[in-house]
Order: sequence, then structure tokens, then C-alpha cells
Amino acid sequence: MNRRDFLRSTGMVAGALLISNSVQSFESKLKYKTMRNKYLKLQLSFMPYTLQLRHVFNLAKSSRTTTPVVLIKIEYDGFCGFGEASMPPYLGESHESVIKFLQQLNLAQFSDPFLIHDILDYVENSMNGNYAAKAAIDIAINDLTAKIAGLPLHKIWGLNPAKTPNTSFTIGIDAPDVVKLKVIEAEPYRILKVKLGRENDKEMIETIRSVTDKPICVDINQGWTDRLMALEMIHWLKEKGVVIIEQPMLKTNFDDTAWLTQHSPLPIIADEAFHNISDLERLKGIYSGINIKLMKCGGLTSAREICYLARSYGMKVMIGCMTETSCAVSAAAQLSPLSDWADLDGNLLITNDPFDGMKIIEGKVTLPKQAGIGVVPLKLKTEIAKFLY
Ligand SMILES: [Mg+2]
Repeated sequence: MNRRDFLRSTGMVAGALLISNSVQSFESKLKYKTMRNKYLKLQLSFMPYTLQLRHVFNLAKSSRTTTPVVLIKIEYDGFCGFGEASMPPYLGESHESVIKFLQQLNLAQFSDPFLIHDILDYVENSMNGNYAAKAAIDIAINDLTAKIAGLPLHKIWGLNPAKTPNTSFTIGIDAPDVVKLKVIEAEPYRILKVKLGRENDKEMIETIRSVTDKPICVDINQGWTDRLMALEMIHWLKEKGVVIIEQPMLKTNFDDTAWLTQHSPLPIIADEAFHNISDLERLKGIYSGINIKLMKCGGLTSAREICYLARSYGMKVMIGCMTETSCAVSAAAQLSPLSDWADLDGNLLITNDPFDGMKIIEGKVTLPKQAGIGVVPLKLKTEIAKFLY
């Protein structure tokens, strides 16, 4: 063997040894990781919390100053996904029911958080109903997996953050001087949402029009009972610059609502009448669109399916929220590029938000660049902040 051949052969051996060593080390790392992952489990923890509302929240049939929520964490391999269940009283869930639901779950049986559908099927089948509690798990698992992937959730879903809509800002029913004050507070928002359905509906609109000419969405919260009166009112509202009518009549009154949608010059949106994907087919042709809220439909995974199905039916989509912290609101915002309108102001209506998350910039939903749903717990000296950290 000449010198060149000798060098070439020894070099090849060395190279082969190197490759073989690196393959072995890769394999042993993989083996180690697989072994270790066998012992890693999803860890669920939760804490009840009470949201303090900035103003008394007056609806056509009720009013309140607080909203109960339960904040949750799902931890895995040093990552932490956050989730939230918000329970406005009319939906029938409470601190007690959500805690009972979460306590019966055994998420530790899962060692791979990316088996999202298996995990959510297990959660779904563990008990009927409990949509807010299920939404909390769904939000947290989506936040967790996107964090592990190191990407914002909307990016994983292939949604364009430039296509987020403006959000409306809700003005509750109140005395004219308070309404004027609330409209001034809503200065950064380009669309107002007004709760109607009481005796003073026209006065509310006239009061707002005395201070601003911004487009208005009105939410009747099932407050109108006569379809002819409702149609007349819608024509009057249109003249006043109203652009959307939400839940004008009782959620069970399909005939009058279908008639109203047919004759109305403005789109009629279902809120109380729409809960989850099983309602959609029935509402096709009765409403022009639906208001999707994570707490009604059970979370992001289902909400995303609903968006696509509603569009396939030619229906408009609004992404809404309850009074919630920035956790659930930021989660819903991740879906907003799929919507025609957003009503994502729930976190702005409370005084004790423990998170920093999605921001409304010049009236528009602006998605954070962080991985996951885009929230970070605020460093506060409160019990809830300690839990979140
Ligand atoms: Mg509504």
C-alpha cells in the first residue's frame, strides 16, 4: 500500500468511526429521551379566582359585579401551559362544578402532550357538559404544545396575524351620564358594542351618538319579544350607524328570528342560541352568523372546527368572550384571523387580571409574538400570581 492509499484508508476508518460514534450517541440520546419521556407525565393544577368587574355589568335580564373563574396549569418537562374556565352565572357552571370536574381527571396517564386529540377525547368523555372546564384544559394543552414547539399557536395553525379584525368594546346599560363616560373610556376602540333590550334603548343610542359616530354592534341578549317591533327598531338602528344585531329574540324562538333575519337590513347573530358545533346546522338559515365563545363550545380545538364549518354554510363568524382574564381572551385572539368580527374585550372589563397578553392596538386585535397563546403571568404579590409562577 502506498502512502496515499494508507492515509485514505486510515482517514476513512477514522471517519467511519466518527460517524459510527455520532450515530451511537444520537441513538443513545434518543433512547434516553424515549425512556425519560415514559416517566414524564402531564401535571394538572388549578386555582379558583374571582374577577372584579370595572363597572356593574347590566344585561337585559341580570346584573353583576364579579365573575368566578378557575385558572389552570398543565406542566410537562419544564414547560407550562395556562388555561382558564370563566363561569358567567347564566351558563350554569361554578367554582364548585369546575373543581369537581378537574378533580376527576387523570391527565397523568398521558406522557405525550402532542396527543391532543386523545387527551381532549378523554376529557370530553369523562363527564357531560362542563364546557368552561373543558375549555380550560383545551386552552392549556394548546398553549403547552405550542410552547414546546416554540411557536405562537396561530403560526402552527397557519393563520395570518395581519388578518385579525378590529374588536368591539362593550358599553353596558346605564344612566346617560355613565354611558357618556364609558364611551370616552372606549376612545382607543373603533367599534362599540351596546347592550340593549330595556325600555331606554333609543335613549342609549342617542346618548352614544351625542359623543361619537363610531360604528355600533348591538346585543339585545334575547330582550325583544315582538318581531314587527324588532324589525322597526333594526331599521331605526341602521339609520343610527348600527352594523350588527346580536341575539334579538329568545334563543328558542326560531320562527320569528328566521323571519327577522330574512327581512332585516342588518346581519342577525346568534349568541345565547349558539353553544357548540352540534347547534350549527339547526341555526343555518335562521341567523346570518354566530358568536363563538370558548367557554360555550369547549375550547380552541372545537372553536376552530366551528369557524370552518360556519364559513362552509355561508355564515358569518364573530369571536367573542365572557368576562375573562387575558389568558382565555388571548387564546380566543389566536383564532381571530378566521373571524369576520371580534368581541374580545373581556379582560379590559376587569380590574384584577393576573396575566399580560394580547393587546388591542388602534382598535385592532394584535397577536403577541411569544410561543403558545401569548400570555405571561404578571409578577404580582397575590396568591394567584404565586400559583401561576
Ligand atoms: Mg351576546
